[in-house]
Amino acid sequence: MASNGESLVRRAAEAVRRTPRWKKGLVFFAVGASTLTYACQDNRVLQICDGTGNKKKVVILGTGWAGASFLRNIDTSLYDVHVVSPRNYFTFTPLLPSVTCGTVEARSIVEPIRNIVGKRNGAFRFWEAECFKIDPTNKKVHCRSDVGMNINGNGEFVVDYDYLIVSVGARPNTFNTPGVTENCHFLKEVEDAQKIRKSVMKCFERAALPNLSEEERKNNLHFVVIGGGPTGVEFAAELHDFVNEDLAKLYPDVKKYVNISVIEAGGHILTMFDKRITQFAEEKFKRDGIDLKTNFKVVKVSNKDITMTNPATGEVAVPYGMAVWSTGIGTRPIIMDFMKQLGQGNRRVLATDEWLRVQGCEDVYALGDCATIAQRKVMEDVAAIFRVADKDNSGTLTVKKIKDVLGDIYERYPQVELYLKSNQMKGFHDLLKDSDGSSKELKELDIEQFKKALAQVDSQVKMLPATAQVAAQEGSYLADCFNRMKTCEEYPEGPIRIRGAGRHRFKPFRYRHLGQFAPLGGEQTAYQLPGDWVHVGHSTQWLWYSVYASKQFSWRTRMLVVSDWGRRFIFGRDSSSI
Ligand code: FAD
Ligand code: MG
Repeated sequence: MASNGESLVRRAAEAVRRTPRWKKGLVFFAVGASTLTYACQDNRVLQICDGTGNKKKVVILGTGWAGASFLRNIDTSLYDVHVVSPRNYFTFTPLLPSVTCGTVEARSIVEPIRNIVGKRNGAFRFWEAECFKIDPTNKKVHCRSDVGMNINGNGEFVVDYDYLIVSVGARPNTFNTPGVTENCHFLKEVEDAQKIRKSVMKCFERAALPNLSEEERKNNLHFVVIGGGPTGVEFAAELHDFVNEDLAKLYPDVKKYVNISVIEAGGHILTMFDKRITQFAEEKFKRDGIDLKTNFKVVKVSNKDITMTNPATGEVAVPYGMAVWSTGIGTRPIIMDFMKQLGQGNRRVLATDEWLRVQGCEDVYALGDCATIAQRKVMEDVAAIFRVADKDNSGTLTVKKIKDVLGDIYERYPQVELYLKSNQMKGFHDLLKDSDGSSKELKELDIEQFKKALAQVDSQVKMLPATAQVAAQEGSYLADCFNRMKTCEEYPEGPIRIRGAGRHRFKPFRYRHLGQFAPLGGEQTAYQLPGDWVHVGHSTQWLWYSVYASKQFSWRTRMLVVSDWGRRFIFGRDSSSI
């Protein structure tokens, strides 16, 4: 059914393309029971409207962790699902650093997007294109394809939606540092990893050429990583292993010239991890001879030098062979434009509520790295919470009245439970103890005492990190909400509406942290479990292998990744420069 529909779409598009100009005003195709209408709105843009019965149309932007996870879980029999993304595949980003050194092949970590739904006989449409404008007023997205041109050859088309899922991810952040875009590699896409690998090999081949001075060989083999976050650190560790385990044997004459530097503006690397992991990583890098330059801020990159500043040394310029820029993520232009339209222009990231609905417009959801949940503060709602709890309008709350709404409060404001936990409090009653200055638990509270009791809880509001784990959980949460939209409209399962009446349809999104890995090279991986348990060593490396193999989207990529790892142990990494 899906492929039939798709081939009809393709044939329709082809026919439109071949139609002489004077006939292009309106082209209409009737296709069986479902109809597809291509109507040329104007001379530039091809409008795609379709009539697949009365199913609501869900348009997903992006096929990364968030978009693919939504697509994997949405029930395509309930919705007419359309996907727009410049890439027709999903990338397993945690293994991208392994692709840079040939430990894992690029094709082993990508999954064709059509496979994801196709396996479940799901019908959906995919357009390989980039969305460049979201128009929430008219419920349309403007897209541009570079694989197929429409009748006028500019590749633009418009897709309308009932629900829009924005999951376009983020872009590398250069902080407008001059020369970075032109001279540094980024590590965000599969193509980036392939380019890095090619570039590493080119540096070795260049350094091995005859008639080069020692200085030139050294410069060619100076690999610089800017940014001491997990990606930069993992790449530096991979590169160190690649050089020592494989390239040292292949380029014995130039091995001694290799230098790997990690430049970090802050005082330490891996600051998002526990201090013990940071310390272990820094010590390991020292032992491995990786030059760690903390408190150095890169201010300029030319094709030969990297200029950085440090309070003690001032400005210094170092020559380099290849540089990878990995200092964090920034907002994509399409999201910045969208935020301006919504009056969110002064924010850094697109804000959604706890149900992933974009604040300031209807029927648009945003998840993954392009958005963040603006967790509602308790103190903004405290008077309303009091009113809801004070059912008989007596002007005071008893412990019993509070207990009746406690579940809803915990669900709606997760910071309350976090606050209790971080202050080793056993329950809400502990909060009531000190609210009037005495250490006695209050039996009845007025609004001022209630405010005092809750005054500190918002200190525990936390922004979720921009990780695959968060994006994937958001995607499956939202798909689950969509799948149960009808049931939950009738039987809402969410908490009481504090500012309105009744209940919310769904429970708010709750992130479950499963811990995080930091591969440090030399078959050593650090693992930080929830509750700040830390483990570093070879056994964690095997845990890393098994978790990452199990998290693959399909058996195909699982087999490929495992066989790549096996191949590397037996034959070493691939050192060809293609
Ligand atoms: P992405 O996965 O980036 O997907 C965005 C999608 O949108 C892509 O398909 C893109 O092609 C598409 N797109 C872009 N622009 C448009 C547009 N205009 N219109 C339509 N589509 C568009 N996280 C972890 O939890 N653990 C890790 O070990 C880990 N390792 C990482 C290693 C590397 C090298 C990198 C780069 C990231 C790593 N991350 C890791 C972070 C993780 O990859 C991101 O948090 C995650 O990809 C975010 O998912 P997303 O769906 O929001 O964005
Ligand atoms: Mg996010």
